[in-house]
Amino acid sequence: MADSSKSKENYQRDEAAEQLSNWSEKNKSKIGFSDSAAAIDLINKDVSLTAGRYGPIVLRDYDLLQQLQSFHRERIPERVVHAKGSGAFGYFECTKALTDLTVSKVFECVGKKTPIAVRFSQVAGNLGTADTVRDPRGFAIKFYTEEGNWDLVGNNTPIFFMRDPILFPMFIHSQKNNPVTNLRDWDMFWDYLSLNHESVHQVLFLFGDRGIPDGYRHQHGFGSHTFSFIGEKRKLTWVKFIYKTDQGIKNLDPKTAEIIAGKDPNYARRDLYNAIEEGKKTGKYPSWTFYIQTMTQDQAEKLKFNPFDITKVWPHGDFPLQKVGRFVLNRNPSNFFAEIEQLSFSPSNFTPGFGPSPDRLLQGRLFSYPDSHLYRLGTNYQQLPVNRPIKKVQNFERDGESVLYNQNGAPNYHPNSFGGPNVNPIAEEWVNPPEAVNANVDYYNLGKDDNFSQPRVFWNKVLDSAAKQRMVDTLANSIQKARADIRNRSVEMFRNVDSDLGDRLAKALGQLQVHL
Ligand code: NDP
Repeated sequence: MADSSKSKENYQRDEAAEQLSNWSEKNKSKIGFSDSAAAIDLINKDVSLTAGRYGPIVLRDYDLLQQLQSFHRERIPERVVHAKGSGAFGYFECTKALTDLTVSKVFECVGKKTPIAVRFSQVAGNLGTADTVRDPRGFAIKFYTEEGNWDLVGNNTPIFFMRDPILFPMFIHSQKNNPVTNLRDWDMFWDYLSLNHESVHQVLFLFGDRGIPDGYRHQHGFGSHTFSFIGEKRKLTWVKFIYKTDQGIKNLDPKTAEIIAGKDPNYARRDLYNAIEEGKKTGKYPSWTFYIQTMTQDQAEKLKFNPFDITKVWPHGDFPLQKVGRFVLNRNPSNFFAEIEQLSFSPSNFTPGFGPSPDRLLQGRLFSYPDSHLYRLGTNYQQLPVNRPIKKVQNFERDGESVLYNQNGAPNYHPNSFGGPNVNPIAEEWVNPPEAVNANVDYYNLGKDDNFSQPRVFWNKVLDSAAKQRMVDTLANSIQKARADIRNRSVEMFRNVDSDLGDRLAKALGQLQVHL
């Protein structure tokens, strides 16, 4: 008889499965009585207060009412994008001082450590989506610096689908469920993408091997946009941020990903949790090496392409990666909802030494992120413990929904005669230098700015022949689900990248007996 305990299907208890047992072990001597939110001992946790044995419940059973009210309010609106996510905490360590480039304290000396929070996410799927779907991954880092919170709200790709934020809601609508059927709609998906050629670079990354990372630990991260470094005397240097996994790149092939999606939709979340708990025993935590690419204003002016175009990378040969730090994730959230669901990032959170660039998509995100949090979490979301800076906030904002901290009676207007907070006199030295703008306000469409040359390099120089074939098969498997004219247009778009790609795609669709 087969020994069933050796079967591969046997359920393996991991650190995540042991969470409650571990808690119980640690807390067995400390567990007290159950009480209400007002810390009043509860009388009964199993039975409602009724008029007679089989009679109705009475309104004065306020514990029951409070419990139901709290239960009804357990959910808050999910994020419209990046809804499903996971996260952890740790530290960033500077390994190369950057005092020549930025006044930021994060990079002031080698060995400087800054606490961080990281949230990984899928982009298009809803809260219950599987962790192994083909989708870009959000990879956002909050640096709790002594100068306030610096948020680097990145992804696992160095580029994105559009240049202009006005396209973002359109693009996301096309990638989410059809509002009538509430199902993923491949006509919508490929219709939008084949009509917007500025997406093609990112689409190739998405349908390549790295489109389904094996968990969150085996992928790189990118700040993606071009940002500013501000040094002494408001010296400006353009910068990109890149974080490379120390665990090595690992991806899932589409078949395996599909099986995992059914068996364990929280695969990446479980992997991250267990890796950190394992790290407590082995000392080996998930980590990433942090790099920058820099460009002077002079270089930017001479460049053949727009350095603020998020559909393009800065080639490594021209703008080499410089290793400047590493970060480590060594603590799981103590409560997922409080610390991850409520964790909020804003690309507009620039501490001294960092700033934006003219990247149009970044300009839109500077507004969109804080605005989404105001809707999802309320006026005072930055006062929640996980979002609160370590530096004490002193300003003139007061009150509003769920206020936790009202600044201890300090004046709420400026200027004032009562010694209220003032602007730091040297803060002006930390902002971007004056920008010369002499231009007409108008609608400048960038949609046709060179969309194909970098995707062509990717296809021809980065992918080997096996990777090319996998990409063609993955694209064909998806495109075949769209209507004939949309399939045709999609193939023509990829033919603009390289005729070889277009031909192979047409052939693969033919083999799937799909006619163009
Ligand atoms: P390089 O030739 O110096 O390096 C190629 C880059 O491609 C490496 O960073 C590599 O990642 C990455 N890569 C390999 N396979 C994939 C994949 N399936 N999906 C996404 N990225 C992958 O790059 P260049 O700077 O000369 O640029 C050439 C082309 O490489 C670009 O047009 C762009 O398409 C692509 N690329 C460039 C990046 C950049 O920031 N310059 C970043 C990512 C891709 P790894 O570091 O793990 O080897």
